[in-house]
Amino acid sequence: MDIKKYNVPVPRYTSYPTVPFWNSEDFTLEGYEQSIQTAFWLSNKEVSIYIHLPFCESLCTYCACNTRITKNHSVEEPYINHLLKEWDLYLEKLPDAPIIREIHLGGGTPTFFSPENLERLIGGLIEKAKISPSISMSFEGHPANTTLKHLKVLEQQGFDRLSLGIQDFDLNVQKLINRLQTFEQVKKVTDEARKIGYTSVNFDMVYGLPGQSLASLDETLDKVISLSPDRIAYYSYAHVPSMKPAQKSYEKYLPASEEKLAFMQFGKERLKESGYEEVGMDHFVKRTDELLLARKNGELHRNFMGYTPFSSQLLVGLGVSAISDSWTGFAQNAKTVESYYEILDSGQLPITKGHLLTSKDLFIRKQILNLMCNFETTWTEDEILSFGISTNFDLLEQLENEGFIKLKKDGVKVLSEGKEILRIICSAFDARLNESGKSPQFSKSI
Ligand code: SF4
Repeated sequence: MDIKKYNVPVPRYTSYPTVPFWNSEDFTLEGYEQSIQTAFWLSNKEVSIYIHLPFCESLCTYCACNTRITKNHSVEEPYINHLLKEWDLYLEKLPDAPIIREIHLGGGTPTFFSPENLERLIGGLIEKAKISPSISMSFEGHPANTTLKHLKVLEQQGFDRLSLGIQDFDLNVQKLINRLQTFEQVKKVTDEARKIGYTSVNFDMVYGLPGQSLASLDETLDKVISLSPDRIAYYSYAHVPSMKPAQKSYEKYLPASEEKLAFMQFGKERLKESGYEEVGMDHFVKRTDELLLARKNGELHRNFMGYTPFSSQLLVGLGVSAISDSWTGFAQNAKTVESYYEILDSGQLPITKGHLLTSKDLFIRKQILNLMCNFETTWTEDEILSFGISTNFDLLEQLENEGFIKLKKDGVKVLSEGKEILRIICSAFDARLNESGKSPQFSKSI
């Protein structure tokens, strides 16, 4: 079984179609607005909200997010004003008051913002909406600037889940990626959050970073496991220097692909030995986690925010570069703060591109989601006859012969080795990629 040959650029499939293959020419704001109204009723008025808070005080050189680096905190207030203006525009388009089911603050660094400003933001969002009794509220905190006050104020607003970007505890790695944070800082924030009442503390780790070795990773994993996070996302580092030039600064320290593969397998094993269960791609949770129950009940879902225990029909993305998902439509906001403000100030939703899904897109989206959430998928004869024309069955047969999947007449089941190349398996269904003959900039699969 040769996994290495599948270490090629391939999408992460946080959406299907993936952003480089959106058909923006056929996208219209009217079509998108219609799709959010349909999704609103289908979801019984429930809405998930992702808020992108792009500011960071310094650039971590490995970062692939949309960020604005500044130490000037006067940017906070106008940004919050514009987020609330954008939410007001959505409220005008929705036929009734929404019921908020989920709020996630991502970035950037949400804890760049003062607790008072975050409080004003959340207060403004919920003021004109209803709150679901099962609301889930989470935020990404930087261990170096998440204060006790942030934790307290957000907990009072209803937040019960905190994600901390750990990446690696090794000082040499931290210097290479320009992200310094100590174990003590992480422990302090974790302990404080739990004491205040946060029910889930999640850690994000990255393997394949410059300067990493099996020994340094082992030590980082020891420290991570000692703090007993409820969930651990163990991500593959995405090297895309043509899009993120700061990544060129450490290219000579990057591990070779064989080493990166070893890091992936080593980390997964260590997490499983320590009592974590693998859920979907790159995610490990404690055995009592609601994501496991959702998987057993076939309710696990994945969207731009990650894995969730329920399926949201309508995800509203607010802020610079945020993506909204109405199930039959995607829309992405302007990517710079200036253009985001300019469009909003003219009274329009700040959307600059999008995609309205065809029936074939919806079929493929379902297959990819099934694989990403349940490690298996099925189809009916009619579906595969109508939409399976572009499925790469040669690749699927090859993957079956090599022991990565079990291919059936009406579906695919991912075998345990196949979980390591899940993105490749999904790519067999990616009609827009397969038909284009293009290979846009994606990171490698491992
Ligand atoms: S990794 Fe996080 S804190 Fe660092 S630059 Fe990127 S968004 Fe900002």
